[in-house]
Amino acid sequence: MAFTLPALPYSYDALEPHIDKETMQIHHDKHHQAYVDNLNKAIAGTPNENKTLEELLANAGSISPAVRNNGGGHWNHSFFWEILSPDGGGKPEGKLAKAIDNAFGSFDEMKEKFNAAGASRFGSGWAWLGVLNGKLAICSTPNQDNPLMDVAECKCKPILGCDVWEHAYYLKYQNKRADYLKAFWNVVNWKKVDEHFENA
Ligand code: MN
Repeated sequence: MAFTLPALPYSYDALEPHIDKETMQIHHDKHHQAYVDNLNKAIAGTPNENKTLEELLANAGSISPAVRNNGGGHWNHSFFWEILSPDGGGKPEGKLAKAIDNAFGSFDEMKEKFNAAGASRFGSGWAWLGVLNGKLAICSTPNQDNPLMDVAECKCKPILGCDVWEHAYYLKYQNKRADYLKAFWNVVNWKKVDEHFENA
């Protein structure tokens, strides 16, 4: 069964001024669409055609680079759109807030560590907050890899992720990835992150 591009859960300009309309349009309609199209091309007529995206990612080490890269790209972007919201920002509450304090000392220290993971990722990749052995962890992955892949150095269940490819920020922030990472927190959908945390 072919994979399809999910619709954005808000308008292209909804995350302004933190993430600009043109970036969202190109990012969703061109980049994400290309991952979906290329994934479908790569699995067409192969046994991978009948697998779920999660099954493909769990075997990333033994599938073709085209399936790994585009399958990762499809999963990562579908996840990313959902953890952003025009009504986002602020702080997590309840159990998630407590788990963050336990793992990192404070919400601010968690943000600092997450931003450092994103800023220090050389080239393209992602920063992640996830659950590993019942505890929160922060890591980053290269390219379109993610922590669900068997090949990931840090295998966790992601609850929050940030795309640090230049295509995610270059139009507005140019080379200033750190400024984009700082602005990212203003649009984080903590309700969705909390849902992922509860399910992890
Ligand atoms: Mn991207």
